Amino acid sequence: MAFSKLGLAPAILEGVKAMGYIDPTPIQLRAIPLVLSGKDVIGSAQTGTGKTAAFGLPILSKLGQHNSTGARVLILEPTRELAAQVETAFHDFARFTNLKTTVVFGGVGYGKQNDELKAGADVVVATPGRLLDHLEQGTLRLDKVEFLVLDEADRMLDMGFLPDVRRIVEKCPRARHTSLFSATVPPQIETLIQWAMHNPETIEIGARRTPAETVKHVIYPVSDTQKTDLLLELLKRVNYNSVLVFCRTKHGADRVAGLLKRANHAVAVLHSNRTQKEREQALQGFREGKYEVLVATDIAARGLDIADVSHVVNYDVPQHPEDYIHRIGRTGRAEATGDAFTIMIAEDAPHVYAIERFISQTIPRVKLENFNYTYTALFEESKPGAKPGGFPGKARAVRVHGGYHFGPAKRRR
Ligand code: AMP
Repeated sequence: MAFSKLGLAPAILEGVKAMGYIDPTPIQLRAIPLVLSGKDVIGSAQTGTGKTAAFGLPILSKLGQHNSTGARVLILEPTRELAAQVETAFHDFARFTNLKTTVVFGGVGYGKQNDELKAGADVVVATPGRLLDHLEQGTLRLDKVEFLVLDEADRMLDMGFLPDVRRIVEKCPRARHTSLFSATVPPQIETLIQWAMHNPETIEIGARRTPAETVKHVIYPVSDTQKTDLLLELLKRVNYNSVLVFCRTKHGADRVAGLLKRANHAVAVLHSNRTQKEREQALQGFREGKYEVLVATDIAARGLDIADVSHVVNYDVPQHPEDYIHRIGRTGRAEATGDAFTIMIAEDAPHVYAIERFISQTIPRVKLENFNYTYTALFEESKPGAKPGGFPGKARAVRVHGGYHFGPAKRRR
């Protein structure tokens, strides 16, 4: 079905056309009519599914013209980067209207935000902390909010924002439309749904549990003392344009970035302890090709629309299986093939099993050819009669990527 059949306002359809979108994505097909009909919507969609337009287009269609009564749409986001990205999308969708959008987040001065809020924005995209500051200072009121969107709700929970979110929701009128997006629905989010939403309809289309078919993903088992050597060697051998390296902690990300810099890679770092300016420079530099490697933590990188990544390296195995899908989803976008490598040490085994169960696939184990492995017993398990307890799933060695692939004997169910 075409966008033109979904009931969107003509000016918004023009905006969609200018964005170059031809067909609606599955979540857009389901969510747009629901939001237009005034239903509260829960979407389990993740980024990359087109969820911003899924809620953005119908909300903007219903707003009509700019009026100066105050914010009529409030969108809460867990990170500054996501807030900026979503505001840009709204601004683009609304380019053939006179609607005004603005973004509010911490880590920067108040001047510009105060001016834009004073001038009257129809749509406010915000992170919770700074939004509360504006409410306390009286630079923003929420009593005219008609549409509330709680985006990436599970990530806001992880980051400890739920009490702030509740305080914000309490300041919005009860008669409003509410949408909530979350990759997972833990009990605290369920409670929030019960409390903040009215007869919501759930859309689960976007919940992706399988990696894109265009992504080739493999695991490199190694001993913990050789993780960094293996990373450096991988980068040396791989013919890449741009690499996203994921680390578990901010400290780890800084350490890995330092190491790569010393090896003469052009590196930027993205995590939540960096200043707003540093984060913007890192992202922009990476998008423009000034940096070939971006080292990031999950929270900082979650949901960011970073296109054209040729490789993703999981320096640390993700703790949450859905993060594996998020991370490797950065490559292989828009049908371009990409490679995703996960470096695995012995203690990662339970997390790797959890990921493999989640995606219903065994991820091939690969040995880097001519790499001086100090602990070759990692690969012993592939031999008949080997003791259990080492690395899982290896049966026979095949060459892949200039290395050896220890292909699993059977696919796990
Ligand atoms: P999102 O999941 O909202 O972060 O969107 C992911 C990417 O897909 C963004 O770059 C959007 O501009 C793009 N996108 C969203 N909807 C469509 C569509 N219907 N056709 C083509 N691209 C889209």
